[in-house]
Amino acid sequence: MKDAEFYPIFNIGHQCSRAHCNAGLGAGNAFTFIDHNFQKQRFTFNQLEANSNRFANALSDLGFGEKDIVVSFLPKCPETFFSFIGILKINAIAGSLFSNFGEQALIDRLGDSGAKAVITKKSLYKKIVRIREKLPSLKYIFITDIDKHIDETVLSYRQLVNNASDVFVVPETAPDCPSVLHYTSGSTGKPKGVQHLHRALNTIRESAKEILQLTSDDIYWCTADQGWVTGTSYGIIGPWSLGVSQIHFGGTYDAAAWMQLLQDESVTVWYTAPTALRMLMIEDEELFKKYDLSKLKHIFSVGEPLNPEINLWAQKVLGKEIYDTWFQTETGSIMIANRPGQTIIPGSMGKPWGDINAAICDDEGNELPVRKAGNLCLRLGWDSMFAMYLNNKEVYENKFRNGFYYSGDLAYKDEKGYFYFMSRNDDIINTAGHLISPFEIESALLAMDEVAESAVIGVPDELLWEKIIAFVNIKKQFIWNEDIELKIRIYLSNKLSTIATPKEIIPIDVIPKNRSGKILRRVLKAKYLGEDAGDVSTMDDQNSI
Ligand code: ATP
Ligand code: MG
Repeated sequence: MKDAEFYPIFNIGHQCSRAHCNAGLGAGNAFTFIDHNFQKQRFTFNQLEANSNRFANALSDLGFGEKDIVVSFLPKCPETFFSFIGILKINAIAGSLFSNFGEQALIDRLGDSGAKAVITKKSLYKKIVRIREKLPSLKYIFITDIDKHIDETVLSYRQLVNNASDVFVVPETAPDCPSVLHYTSGSTGKPKGVQHLHRALNTIRESAKEILQLTSDDIYWCTADQGWVTGTSYGIIGPWSLGVSQIHFGGTYDAAAWMQLLQDESVTVWYTAPTALRMLMIEDEELFKKYDLSKLKHIFSVGEPLNPEINLWAQKVLGKEIYDTWFQTETGSIMIANRPGQTIIPGSMGKPWGDINAAICDDEGNELPVRKAGNLCLRLGWDSMFAMYLNNKEVYENKFRNGFYYSGDLAYKDEKGYFYFMSRNDDIINTAGHLISPFEIESALLAMDEVAESAVIGVPDELLWEKIIAFVNIKKQFIWNEDIELKIRIYLSNKLSTIATPKEIIPIDVIPKNRSGKILRRVLKAKYLGEDAGDVSTMDDQNSI
């Protein structure tokens, strides 16, 4: 264990701020916050240290400490970052929720976790007020944009930090001390509370170095919201533990604004998601010619399979490669990836990195031969592995067999050790005895001029066991008609096979997704079958990332 050697103070908050100040790098830029009106604020590591210390002191004074859960329910703003680091510094647990969650989603997560405090904004506070009596553990609400405390439990974040010292001595932190709590995206069902430990720092930091190849010269932008694991592992911990300067944007998706930011802020490494890239793909190519992206070295993607068509588009329109990365809330950091310097095989998410040992297994924990589809598993033994699902021991225990963690995804591996994502366990389609990956059909559809996006599902069928249904979102300049439908059929049957050609092709205006941009196939399936869609708390009402 090299922890003591690398980290005299093994605490994520300390390593992301104070460690750089101690090394004489405190005057360096930690982040530039650009709000939705494009107003910029710059913060050095010294300021990150001071501001997070203030919140750490304020929490300590109120009696918070180890194992207390403090949840941020904020849109991206400087306090999102200061509070996250401050919570970790006192060895409390930092939770983070999407700011557009509704009341039921909040009750589920704040109630399940037993959160002791929530940090929010005036405009979101009313949601908490309406549910507060259902949350007996919730002692305090901190509001970032009011000047004075409202009462003894609803406190002004500003007043608290203004009265607190900017010096804080981080207590001893055991590597197994709980650190970050995230709820999964809820793509396959009810979101699960995933608890991480401070030792996660090791894997997150190393992967940011090895895969994202971040160095102190970089300017880095991770578009993920802090409500999702990518937003904390790679929007906070990875880059800051390496002392890398970031930008954080408080606005929403806008192709021109994003390109402007990449250009004006001289971003060198960009981490985003396939759903955002697919949205960029439907923009007029002329738009991209207006911007100078010569500083941008690498683009990475995570969250969903990266359709090969996106890579082709990026090479042609941006003149860049896109490196796919695979991980989960549970794994805490990237496990499998493409990376600069390694040949990309379009359609493959790359290889495991470092000591990560990934395998394709049958249901009993036996490894399968190359090119055989099976469960994507990881041999236990990396530091960012989750410690438990909150209040869900049974589901947690079911995830392990024969020393492997079962990810719940299906994949195969080739002779050279590249991994190919097929689908989630629940989404694979068994039609007439053939296993068909919805991703393969969706990727083929994306190559058609008419198709903006699609989602493919399997539904029960008497003859075929399951039949394939494709929901297709047509680009604005096309009108859905029988000719387009026929064209899609002929195209898919030529490109893939007649077996993989959907039995029904249904036009749709908006593909249902969750806030992290993942297609919610189970929602389409329920809708098609006239059934209840179950937990839709993470569903976004429009295409956003
Ligand atoms: P839930 O577990 O609640 O159903 P979720 O699995 O979507 O939600 P996350 O932990 O946010 O929650 O997402 C991890 C999943 O996202 C992976 O298991 C995989 O299915 C998908 N995923 C992530 N990255 C990739 C990738 N590069 N290629 C393919 N799929 C990916
Ligand atoms: Mg999952």
